[in-house]
Amino acid sequence: MGKKATAKKRAAKPSPRKKAAGKRWGEAEVVEAFTRFRKANPHPKGELESVNHFTLLVAVVLSAQATDAGVNKATRALFQVADTPEKMVALGEEKLRDYIKTIGLYKGKAKNVIALSKMLIEKHNAQVPKTREELQALPGAGRKTANVVLNIAFGEPTMAVDTHVFRVSNRTGLAPGKNPLEVELELMRVIPDRFMTHAHHWLILHGRYTCLARNPKCPACIISDLCLWPEKTL
Ligand code: SF4
Repeated sequence: MGKKATAKKRAAKPSPRKKAAGKRWGEAEVVEAFTRFRKANPHPKGELESVNHFTLLVAVVLSAQATDAGVNKATRALFQVADTPEKMVALGEEKLRDYIKTIGLYKGKAKNVIALSKMLIEKHNAQVPKTREELQALPGAGRKTANVVLNIAFGEPTMAVDTHVFRVSNRTGLAPGKNPLEVELELMRVIPDRFMTHAHHWLILHGRYTCLARNPKCPACIISDLCLWPEKTL
């Protein structure tokens, strides 16, 4: 394919991060959308597998730039032998690498998981801490990791913005923003408290299975009449 044809093909693809033409939802649309998400899936669950708070934290650290399915494939065997910080340190970085070598950036992640396990033992009595500051101070754990752990492990109404949440928030007009932090703060502002515990999962699942980056399934979308994305397919 020539350069011109390639450029034309690129131009024809939808723009996953294009905003909803500068428009945004009002309160009524936000409430309506989350009422529909709740009705369709009253108890949404995260898809990263874990057996306790520690393994949840490790799974989230491993999931950076990797799919949940890919992480689960590696961690099923890993968590059978190392489901506590002490066991993870005893396993050691080299053996940990063997378990997670199918995950992208596994060398750096193995280093971080061993370092964060040591820090949990030394500073937190081998427990996963409950505050954002303490979580973000752990090696390999950023704001997104803290948000996921606070939400799933401790039921806090936090909002982790991954690529799916970012895309859905911008496309629909729910919470447009230039970067994940802007979108996170906007989502926290516009989503009513009663939806916050599950909002993160609803948006991720919507982005993962319906509002896909390349070919969104707009005709099957339960919020298509509310969505303001100019490129939606009907
Ligand atoms: S209609 Fe639904 S699937 Fe299509 S862009 Fe909007 S939110 Fe995404």
